[in-house]
Amino acid sequence: MFEFTQKLSETECAFPGDNDPVIVLCRKNTVVCHESGSKRLPYWSEVRKFAGKNESLIRVGKLDGRCCFAFECETLQISDGILELWQIRQFLHEFSEAASSALCRARELLHWRMQHRFCGRCRCGLQASERDSGLICPACGSVYYPQLAPAVIVGITRNEGRELLLAHNRNFAGNVYSLIAGFVEASESLEAAVAREIREECGIEVKNLQYVTSQSWPFPNSLMLAFCAEYACGTARADGVELTDLGWFTSENHPELPAHGSVARAVIDRIFSRSVDDAH
Ligand SMILES: [Zn+2]
Repeated sequence: MFEFTQKLSETECAFPGDNDPVIVLCRKNTVVCHESGSKRLPYWSEVRKFAGKNESLIRVGKLDGRCCFAFECETLQISDGILELWQIRQFLHEFSEAASSALCRARELLHWRMQHRFCGRCRCGLQASERDSGLICPACGSVYYPQLAPAVIVGITRNEGRELLLAHNRNFAGNVYSLIAGFVEASESLEAAVAREIREECGIEVKNLQYVTSQSWPFPNSLMLAFCAEYACGTARADGVELTDLGWFTSENHPELPAHGSVARAVIDRIFSRSVDDAH
């Protein structure tokens, strides 16, 4: 179980104890302790050597009853037999939901802090709030909080749910096809963002929009809001800007899909498994 730090008293988790879990980030990687077949987050006693006088050490929350901390390194030389450097995406796929939540929060907070070292109003150096995750300007009193970038992602079906629209984005690795997605604009509702993204990227209209689930996506600070919708009208075609190709696919016949662990894959699996159930 993972609990946010907001409600923790200042003294309870002031500094890591030897056996407190610590998230060590190095670019898009994190340190994992892997011994005799089991894997876990490393303890402070195992990674404090990497922290040095690290000013980025932060409290992340409580993970399974223990205070969890995090810090970031520019480079990391691991010569220890049991510590390994894992890609964050692999971690999110293989670790528990609680550990993944802690890692997502650590990455977003550390990234946000690195980009908010000075007050945008008066340029004074910011200080961490002792009450919550905010940063306070000691000169003008401005308070800054971590910002999220909400993004919508939509599984669009037709033919009574048997066909799903999948598209290849020019930024995707290899030949992966996924769902239509995009960021919510300032002042825009989620419903309007979904309709606009679909219209802009593939030229169709949808109906019966339904919310499915959400997922933190710390690359660097997205909140993915997943929906399902039914095709209404128009001819689907790739915009040639973001999307290079798209098509309608079935559970038996589809291109390479995004990795497990992403919300896109969860929605795709859900739609395809439902279409298989309906067929029986
Ligand atoms: Zn200021």
